[in-house]
Amino acid sequence: MNGSVIELLRRYAAQQREFGFPDPILPRLEARARPEVNATPSGTDGASGLAEVRRTVDGCARCPLHARRKTIVFGIGDPNADLMFVGEGPGADEDDAGEPFVGPAGKLLDRIFEAAGIARGEVYIANVVKCRPPQNRDPEPDEIAACLPFLRKQIEIVNPKIICALGKHAAQTLLERADPIGRLRGVWYDWEGRRLICTYHPSACLHNASYKRPVWEDFQILRDAYRAIRPL
Ligand code: SF4
Repeated sequence: MNGSVIELLRRYAAQQREFGFPDPILPRLEARARPEVNATPSGTDGASGLAEVRRTVDGCARCPLHARRKTIVFGIGDPNADLMFVGEGPGADEDDAGEPFVGPAGKLLDRIFEAAGIARGEVYIANVVKCRPPQNRDPEPDEIAACLPFLRKQIEIVNPKIICALGKHAAQTLLERADPIGRLRGVWYDWEGRRLICTYHPSACLHNASYKRPVWEDFQILRDAYRAIRPL
């Protein structure tokens, strides 16, 4: 791990502490060991936990993305879902609506859900950054680092058994790897005690139809694992 990455992680850890969130990074850096999941105790109300985090996010100006956002796109879905999707960041439609995946990529995601027999309302969906990057550019590493504590807290509260990272930014951020998404996708990872799989972002499929087949293959793997724990 190079120095700049470690510095980024240290800044992230400092923000975690500032927000009063658990800090999984410094112990990892210091002990070089994967920590146990700090799971939400069973019976905890995910909705109230998420509402509390949402209040923390409101008005956030911790990174430059706050300057041009219309709304903070926090996340949506079952607050106690077993399956959680993590995308990159809001686009123009999401910035207008305040909800993730409502634009063309979201409509494609809905069709994939439908084909896989997964209801949108039974999963939780969030993004790595909660504010729209201008012109839909990629989020910068410092913007991701600033926003990551919110995503980690969402994951902790929703407590999904399975996470699907949509696109390279979600995959690389959660896995802390720089490999291209084409190399990361389609296999299971252990992510702090949860199962994690990555696939291409739906927007990539809109630009390049050749991604649709691998996305569908990945969703079948995901669907089978999810239905094993949540039968119809
Ligand atoms: S992207 Fe995240 S860290 Fe940056 S201003 Fe928005 S909520 Fe805050």
